[in-house]
Amino acid sequence: KQCESGKSEEIYKELKKLTMESSICQNVQIVRTGCFGLCSKGPIVKILPDETFYVNVDVKDAKAIINDHIIAGQPVERLMLKHDNPAKESRFYQKQIRIALRNCGIINPEDITEYIARDGYAALSMALFEMKPMDIIEELKKSGLRGRGGAGFPTWMKWKFTHDIKDQADEIFIICNADEGDPGAYMDRSILEGDPQSVLEAMALAGYACGSSMGYIYIRAEYPLAIERLYKAMDQAREYGLLGKNILGSGFDFDIEIRLGAGAFVCGEETALIASIEGERGMPRPRPPFPAVKGLWGKPTVINNVETYANIPKIILRGGDWFGQIGTEKSKGTKVFALTGKINNSGLVEVPMGTTLREIIYDIGGGIPNGKAFKAAQTGGPSGGVITAEHLDTPIDYETLGALGSMMGSGGMIVMDEDDCIVDVTKFYLDFSVDESCGKCAPCRIGTRKMHNILRKITMGKGTMDHIQQLRALAVPMQKASLCGLGQAAPNPILSTLKYFEDEYLAHIRDHR
Ligand code: SF4
Repeated sequence: KQCESGKSEEIYKELKKLTMESSICQNVQIVRTGCFGLCSKGPIVKILPDETFYVNVDVKDAKAIINDHIIAGQPVERLMLKHDNPAKESRFYQKQIRIALRNCGIINPEDITEYIARDGYAALSMALFEMKPMDIIEELKKSGLRGRGGAGFPTWMKWKFTHDIKDQADEIFIICNADEGDPGAYMDRSILEGDPQSVLEAMALAGYACGSSMGYIYIRAEYPLAIERLYKAMDQAREYGLLGKNILGSGFDFDIEIRLGAGAFVCGEETALIASIEGERGMPRPRPPFPAVKGLWGKPTVINNVETYANIPKIILRGGDWFGQIGTEKSKGTKVFALTGKINNSGLVEVPMGTTLREIIYDIGGGIPNGKAFKAAQTGGPSGGVITAEHLDTPIDYETLGALGSMMGSGGMIVMDEDDCIVDVTKFYLDFSVDESCGKCAPCRIGTRKMHNILRKITMGKGTMDHIQQLRALAVPMQKASLCGLGQAAPNPILSTLKYFEDEYLAHIRDHR
């Protein structure tokens, strides 16, 4: 988005025009890609084969790139990623391992041949001709891949539940949850914009493993570029015999349709998402039964999110053991974080599970701007909590974040500095939960509003010591009695900030007496 709003389309057209005007540039190709990840330095232009990386490019820089670099062979120093810059943008990529983002910023997402040239659809081909459905599930089990949408449930287990009952069902569905809604998280959008074929291939693999011939991608309508590229990707996959009837002549049929969501956060909850696809109001349903047994239209349904799917073709191709070697004992592989807020190098970063927050903030993120001190990072969005300076060296994975009172969530990571008011930030998350509560159950509908009212009073200087107790007292019934994760997790930002920053709440109350 930074690149798009930074006139990348105009830069693309200008570069294209200049190369067409020059007889020396007849063999130069100008290619659009997806997101490079280093959003704070966009728009980015990368020159191949020499890998020169130009940042903060403007339309007027196009002439220098073509005349000086392409024609005269002299790279444009002033646009290059600096190695001695205090923000150390060049270290942005050094600690990253890009598996889910492997093709983003590298291939043209609108050209299936570029995906195929980077091993695209090799996993599906191998699966269809050399593997049984259970072999695929076994590889996923070895990989240790857990759902990247928030809860971290083992992916292989979801697939096996459905696989094991496939003979009793007349229809089975595969769903991709692309209803990304956490404030600050945008990795799913970037994957769909930068590498849509990887998700289609993974869904077809899920279809083969679980006995399904039909998939749905549920994506929020606010993602127009991702939707456009998905439609193009699906058309091309059908044209190449990789989607639809008799894929690659194997006899296996699998096709996908897109369903647009209207942007309700709760529709990211899988039972609400299913209700929305069915044409009902998007509200959660009690579980059990779980979707793997009784999901879309009452049929067994496998649901995974975009980032989870994006890992799968690579896991099948390289083997579950390869993926399982990356990460920590219980959290395998990599995780994409959307690093935003008070950070020099904001953007999408993909790191092995177990990377410390210090490495993410200071090595990859380049530290806090203007020499300010790090205060906290919010992970897990409105369902998560804060990680403080004393935990900068904690290796981050599902377990450690939970133990700190936060959660992985979908991977939003918002960095705060010494100037940020923790109570204001917490109120923002409660604002969000009040707006997004679907209202179906009382603990969430009433509890979020009561908590929000208390926070409003505290931030307006009308707080009392009783309010702190009331916040804690409200949290327990909400966590225990709310129907879905939204209400169950809505108190988390409050409990987490009260745990680490109660003094700030007290200061709001004291200073206004
Ligand atoms: Fe709706 Fe909140 Fe209840 Fe979930 S917890 S069903 S969002 S009211």
